[in-house]
Amino acid sequence: MSVTLLDRRVEVIAGDITRLGVDAIVNAANPSLKGGGGVDGAIHRAAGPQLKQACLALRETQWPGGLPDGEVALTEGFELPARYVIHTVGPVYAKTQDKSRLLANCYRNALALAAEHDCRSVAFPAISTGIYGYPFDEAAPIVIDTLDEALNRYELQVTLCFFKDRDRQAFEAIAEQRGVVD
Ligand code: ADP
Repeated sequence: MSVTLLDRRVEVIAGDITRLGVDAIVNAANPSLKGGGGVDGAIHRAAGPQLKQACLALRETQWPGGLPDGEVALTEGFELPARYVIHTVGPVYAKTQDKSRLLANCYRNALALAAEHDCRSVAFPAISTGIYGYPFDEAAPIVIDTLDEALNRYELQVTLCFFKDRDRQAFEAIAEQRGVVD
């Protein structure tokens, strides 16, 4: 049984985000929007080549300099079970001054964009905690506080999808300490 937080608005699971049949999955994209490693690569592989075309079109029309940290852009999900992919760029831990605010912006802006597109369910990976090096224990409280604040504004159900079960367990322990587990 999975754990829920914040009055059942947030479900915490371990698994592959590309398999989730939610309205939108969030991609921890790289600024070029050309696809990369980690979850970005997995999403591009599962969505098929049309996703890359859509990302390149977004880049040409809306983000010629690349997607800045904390900003969001939406494409269709193509071959994914999810209807949309919301691409966001997390901060690189070692290179970013204002990293906690920018990490919060990823979550906040993704929820706002999902709500704008009438989504009811959104799944997030653990943005920035892979190749971008954000320590998991520092990221988790930012995620919890941002969801707590932002979910008051939207009718959205959130899934936090950790890839490794060890990460899911670590996140749940932090959520427990902060008293937000249902
Ligand atoms: P970033 O560059 O933002 O750090 P990464 O893709 O390197 O992004 O890692 C972010 C998180 O995504 C990591 O916790 C990693 O374990 C996780 N991850 C990798 N593949 C998947 C997947 N298919 N589904 C969900 N999470 C994934």
